[in-house]
Amino acid sequence: MKRIYLDYAATTPTHPEVMKAMLPYFTDSFGNPSSIHSFGQEARDAIEKARNQVATLIGAKDDEIVFTGSGTEADNFALKGVVSAKQDKGNHIITSPIEHHAVLETCKFLEKQGFSVTYVPVDGYGMVDPSDVKKAITNKTILISIMHANNEVGTIEPVAEIANIARESEIYFHTDAVQGVGHIPVDVDNLNVDLLSISGHKLYGPKGIGALYIRKGTRVSPFMHGGGQEKGKRASTENVPAIVGLGKATEIAYREMPEEAQKLTALRDQLIEGILKSIEYTQLNGHPQRRLPNNANVSINYVEGESMLLNLDLAGICASTGSACSSEELEPSHVLVAMGLPHLQAHSSLRFSLGKWTTDEDINQVLNVLPGIVSKLRAMSPLIGTSTNFPTNPTGGNS
Ligand SMILES: *Cc1c(COP(=O)(O)O)cnc(C)c1O
Repeated sequence: MKRIYLDYAATTPTHPEVMKAMLPYFTDSFGNPSSIHSFGQEARDAIEKARNQVATLIGAKDDEIVFTGSGTEADNFALKGVVSAKQDKGNHIITSPIEHHAVLETCKFLEKQGFSVTYVPVDGYGMVDPSDVKKAITNKTILISIMHANNEVGTIEPVAEIANIARESEIYFHTDAVQGVGHIPVDVDNLNVDLLSISGHKLYGPKGIGALYIRKGTRVSPFMHGGGQEKGKRASTENVPAIVGLGKATEIAYREMPEEAQKLTALRDQLIEGILKSIEYTQLNGHPQRRLPNNANVSINYVEGESMLLNLDLAGICASTGSACSSEELEPSHVLVAMGLPHLQAHSSLRFSLGKWTTDEDINQVLNVLPGIVSKLRAMSPLIGTSTNFPTNPTGGNS
């Protein structure tokens, strides 16, 4: 059976060109970039080339890019680094409840350290209202962090508007752009951000590598202490192959993004429309227009997301419930809950995330298989009792 991968938002396969670029840095060119000799200089040159490739994709200067061990580390670095550098000025952070756990858990940690965090609400589409951010600012606010595009529902946030508000108040602004970079245009000057997080494995690079953009002049305390690598901002011997891989991945993205975004948008809409048309009691989650080209998140009411996932997997289709929660917890997605979805709908969500190698046939296969799975599961659903008696109010019921 051919397996169909529709979980690109969780991770992407490493692009063959990326693999090819990385390989020599495990073997012949294995030098430590801090070494003065030719092995070291070869590795150093490779890192600086990658830095330029990453910077080019997001419109940054080379020396504004710091390589990190992951997207999670970039988020941790941004938040902890800024509040540590600015704690003489205040202790207040503004973020949103739909952030990735890398930001939310860092905020929770900082709250325990005595910082105070305001979580501005989102609307039914998962959008932050810039005026809510403005209202939340106090004279103690030192950092605003709002994600660029949401990983579960695909909604693209009004980052430039929020960043402008932050700039007017002379407050640093960070955005987690892990889902957007390499997929839609991201330019640090257009967005007017001070810090921006990137992860390698969400854009066809390797896992375990990320980058933090830090605008020149932004005060950030180092997060890792040790040697003076990355100009003292991130100690530890550089992961040269992974850095080269991230560089190559951003170069490919720069080249292929426009065409790919167009192709994926068409496939995505085909999938969304197909599901909404062929299956009753469904709705799209996230913003209908302002959404990532590759994200289709739907609630298929009166069926549990996990049951659909397992059945899809048996049919060779790999998707996600969109919630990053561990399987032991039965908590619904924090994103869908923040958007105001009743638990019933939050529990019946499915996220299909498309990518470079998704085809028309893949989408058709989902549309062929899913309605049957849904009818089968609804027929035995404890949520509705009987298979034929759907409530007239599709948002009703209890979970
Ligand atoms: C995947 C992801 C991260 C974490 O990146 P890792 O490299 O896996 O640590 C952070 N934020 C968002 C929005 C993500 O999708």
